[in-house]
Amino acid sequence: MTGPELLVLWDIDGTLIAGRGFGGLMYREAFRSAFGRELKGPVDLGGRTELDVIAEILRRHEIEHTEQTSQLLADALASSFESRRADFPDHSDLLPGALQALQHFADDPRVHQGVLTANLKSVARIKLEEFGLAHLVDWDTSAFGDDHADRAELVTFARKRAQHVRVFTPDEVVLIGDTPHDVYAATKAGVRVVAVATGRSSTQDLRDAGAEAVLGSLADLGELTWQVWGRAAPGNREA
Ligand SMILES: [Mg+2]
Repeated sequence: MTGPELLVLWDIDGTLIAGRGFGGLMYREAFRSAFGRELKGPVDLGGRTELDVIAEILRRHEIEHTEQTSQLLADALASSFESRRADFPDHSDLLPGALQALQHFADDPRVHQGVLTANLKSVARIKLEEFGLAHLVDWDTSAFGDDHADRAELVTFARKRAQHVRVFTPDEVVLIGDTPHDVYAATKAGVRVVAVATGRSSTQDLRDAGAEAVLGSLADLGELTWQVWGRAAPGNREA
């Protein structure tokens, strides 16, 4: 293929799907099943990778953080989601324009799209499967919360995995996400980001974090497409 191509990496929570406390509930179930006691205090997920959240929870409960204890909680979390997967759509909403946007980029041969998410891989799959979106992303050009605790490192994982398609330059990689964590990850990794203010972060929060492109939602597909292509495809607006 000649001409520019893009690797588009989607955040899930707050960008494609809005949760209503289901993630926190799953953490409570998982913690109980892994350690036989109740999880204390709130679970602040907001764009942090699962490995990061798990480390913080272990610390808070004075459980030694080892590969084993971390894996124990991660496995319990995956099992909780698996056993309650049918309930997930009742506790969350597909955000306006998300399906159309995913479909649009999936149909564009110049675009390869995956997810770049704080979720564990198995949980990310459950979430997209339950909303009928899983077939629209390439799971082999994606990165997950169980790859690394630092979200910026996930960009490296996704780009490496995408090499089976082609080598994408930093300019050809675009993250789409709803929190300053997404903006931080893109900035630190030197790739582009389109922020959407559909999560807990406002347009101003996202601008303050350094995002140049901030959309109110995914609902305006023309605007989204324009921002995703950026300078890569002049005239794309008319395309
Ligand atoms: Mg998010």
